[in-house]
Amino acid sequence: MQVHAYGAHSGDTPLVPMAITRRAPGPHDVQIDIAYCGICHSDLHQVRAEWAGTQFPCVPGHEIVGRVSAVGVHVAGFQPGDLVGVGCLVDSCRHCAECGEGLENYCDGMVGTYNFPTPDAPGWTQGGYSQAIVVHERYVLRIRHPEAALAAVAPLLCAGITTYSPLRHWQAGPGKKVGVVGIGGLGHMGIKLAHAMGAHVVAFTTSDAKRAAALELGADEVVVSRNADEMAAHAKSFDLIVNTVAAPHDLDAFLVLLKRDGTMTLVGAPASPHPSPNVFNLLMQRRSIAGSMIGGIPETQEMLDFCAAHGIVADIELIPAGEINSAYERMLKGDVNYRFVIDNATLSVPA
Ligand code: NAP
Ligand code: ZN
Ligand code: ZN
Repeated sequence: MQVHAYGAHSGDTPLVPMAITRRAPGPHDVQIDIAYCGICHSDLHQVRAEWAGTQFPCVPGHEIVGRVSAVGVHVAGFQPGDLVGVGCLVDSCRHCAECGEGLENYCDGMVGTYNFPTPDAPGWTQGGYSQAIVVHERYVLRIRHPEAALAAVAPLLCAGITTYSPLRHWQAGPGKKVGVVGIGGLGHMGIKLAHAMGAHVVAFTTSDAKRAAALELGADEVVVSRNADEMAAHAKSFDLIVNTVAAPHDLDAFLVLLKRDGTMTLVGAPASPHPSPNVFNLLMQRRSIAGSMIGGIPETQEMLDFCAAHGIVADIELIPAGEINSAYERMLKGDVNYRFVIDNATLSVPA
């Protein structure tokens, strides 16, 4: 099946309309008409070849929501009409220890939703800036939010799970002081989720203008990280800091805010390395720097159900496909409130 999509032919040219092919559903496949797709900063890193190994043409997008339009003969869990989501992965080896534990995101054979090898044409996966996608049922998520919220659910599939997973792993909850650095797509979800889990949440931003909005998102306090006095007031006080910043920056400024045995988890994936932290800031209070990458399928479903139960969705700006390139420029300036989501109905312009 040919579908309309939006993608790039090279790392230094804008995204343009194009046609891509989707396979006919196999026995265990679910075919989905995509209603909305969020724009993650990872899409920009990948499609502009800031990370190594981008295959072109590249159709990004891994915050996918829509309706099932067809299912393979052996699919039992989904039927046409169901509201579903697809996140950052569409396959994995299915037999390693990580797959066995539902941590497919750490499987060496994980197949990302775009730019990963696949037998399907053209040989690498193509993502959600497209009208439809075909995915093995194991990697399809069920959406229990009301349909009216669907566009704002899309960002949960990456921004939501990427912040939910470390918050759960490092046990954010009542009695814990949790920092979230960077109030963009990931960070604004991190604030909402940590708040819903019952933690005391401090939002760190470089943008003075986001101060009031961060409180509305659920932060208990907001710190403008360029202000040394505001930073110093939180020295040695955090159990956990989730750092979502998409650019290299001074990690020491945040490390010294961790209390003894505290952890800063990096989820931002800048194209070039951070300056090395001062080892003494780790030794002195037995602090840790960790990393975390998206989440497995069971935890992604748990996150979606947690959000449905707590009425949590993303704060979004819905855009037509023709505005993807300008949305990228605004995202680079931190000018996003707080996730751009594409209305995929606007992709139906012939390529
Ligand atoms: P985003 O919407 O652009 O948000 C990033 C935020 O970081 C900005 O809004 C800004 O917040 C802050 N920031 C940006 N540049 C900065 C700088 N030079 N110094 C300090 N702060 C800066 O991006 P996103 O979609 O949330 O993604 C964030 C990063 O996470 C990207 O690198 C992305 O590739 C990565 N990511 C990782 C995973 C994973 O599995 N680990 C999953 C998804 C995305 P303020 O204006 O508040 O300062
Ligand atoms: Zn993402
Ligand atoms: Zn595996």
